[in-house]
Amino acid sequence: MEEDTATIQPSLLNLHFDSSVDGQYVLDPEGDVFVKVNPAMCELLGFTREQLVEARRPVSTLSLVHEGDRELVISHRKSVENPGDSGVMRFRVVRSDGAVRHLEVRYALLRYMGRLLQVGSARDVSEQVKLESKLRNESEFNRELTLAAQRSAKETQRKSLEVLEANTRVGALSEVLRAIPVLTKRLLEIDDINEVFKQTALTMVNDAQFSSCGVLLRNEAGDLEVKYANPFRASAKVNLDEQPAIRAVLNGESELAVDDAGTHGAPIRAGTEVRGLLQVGLPKNLQRFYKNHKPIQQSIKDLVSTIADFLGVVISNHENLEHIKRQSRLDKLTGLYNRRVFEEQLSVEFRRALRYDRDLSLMILDIDDFKKVNDTLGHQQGDKVLEMIGYMLAGSFRDLDTVCRYGGEEICVIMPETVGQAAKSKADQIRRKVNEVEIPLLEKPDQVMRITVSIGAACISKSTTNEEQLLRDADKALYVAKRKGKNQVRLAEEIEPEA
Ligand code: GH3
Ligand code: MG
Ligand code: MG
Repeated sequence: MEEDTATIQPSLLNLHFDSSVDGQYVLDPEGDVFVKVNPAMCELLGFTREQLVEARRPVSTLSLVHEGDRELVISHRKSVENPGDSGVMRFRVVRSDGAVRHLEVRYALLRYMGRLLQVGSARDVSEQVKLESKLRNESEFNRELTLAAQRSAKETQRKSLEVLEANTRVGALSEVLRAIPVLTKRLLEIDDINEVFKQTALTMVNDAQFSSCGVLLRNEAGDLEVKYANPFRASAKVNLDEQPAIRAVLNGESELAVDDAGTHGAPIRAGTEVRGLLQVGLPKNLQRFYKNHKPIQQSIKDLVSTIADFLGVVISNHENLEHIKRQSRLDKLTGLYNRRVFEEQLSVEFRRALRYDRDLSLMILDIDDFKKVNDTLGHQQGDKVLEMIGYMLAGSFRDLDTVCRYGGEEICVIMPETVGQAAKSKADQIRRKVNEVEIPLLEKPDQVMRITVSIGAACISKSTTNEEQLLRDADKALYVAKRKGKNQVRLAEEIEPEA
């Protein structure tokens, strides 16, 4: 029975060995040869049993292992070296037809007839490896996808922050820009030029949010003077020696001076002449954007220059208007005030004298025989006389007095704070002064002519009810001076009423 079992069992084992669907083998690691292989093993490797086991020089088992995995197999063989050791490993083999297959080998070491043998089964796991690698790739891909998604989310966030920041900038800038029409409209309505400077500085800080604003103009000596500054500046003058950038702007060599703190200085031009500087500190709400944002820098520059240009226009207009106003008050030929000013001023002075009980005198000066000058020497010579007498008279009275050409060859002088006698003596002084004026003859430049004048003066008294009466009194005195022989002065209060 034991004999039977002993004889049957090896044949059963052989049957199992040969018919197994897995590759089965017995390998001599030391000799590097197969001792036994089943058909499935031959199938796996693409070699015949003869080539693997029975040939005089059987195939080296290591030579079947793919070059890339050979080190792995060798070191593994070294690590399992005792009977009973077992393990599982994967490696690639190269079949006889050159195809590469992945094998998974489960093995054990055992001692048989004094030799250490490796008994194992092998399975082709190429499809599984392929699938695993595909899965690995897919998970890699998914990971990539996730990373990409995260990156794009971050990018989106960054972009939206940028948009937000840009909006804030635009918002801040538009706040500044919104203030400009407010400012220009406000400025155009102001007559007083100093009020214009003040309103500019206030609006730039309060409405446009600039941190500071100053209007600085050159004075007659050429120094730069603060006209108005917000916040207030203790020093009214700017030392140009310490400010070469500002000096360059004032000299027309530069369009803009920007200092380290971001304070901009733009030229204020009236016509082509640089009159001064508009200085503004960066808007508070744009300060943190300014350094790294070219568009913001440009906007600020444009803005400051625009306001400075506008101020220049306002100054020009103001000066033109002042000039026109002055011209409209002056007589062209004599350079004295005209009749309109005379009437306005006489009315003002008369009311003031009446209210505060002050003295007020008036003199009317009329050139004697002026008609004759025109008739004998020509109208142009008459004009020359008026021009020269006018020039002399303009410089012969106190600042308080108003010298006007009343009409034709009649000149009136309003003299506040002057009593009748003082007016009379002043008139006589003038009369003599006129006599001394040498008027060149236009036709004969080497010859001169002289003229005489008659003057009537009057001072207000308790009985003077209005300025017309004062004028009538002076005119009456003049009439008497003419009648009594010309080239003389008469004071109204001294004229005897005629019988
Ligand atoms: P009287 O001594 O009485 O004042 O004599 P008169 O000739 O000066 O007096 P009248 O008022 O009759 O003449 C004034 C003349 O002054 C008349 C006018 O031709 C002349 N006249 C007035 N305005 C001008 C002017 O702008 N230029 C010139 N050349 N003559 C003027
Ligand atoms: Mg006259
Ligand atoms: Mg006259």
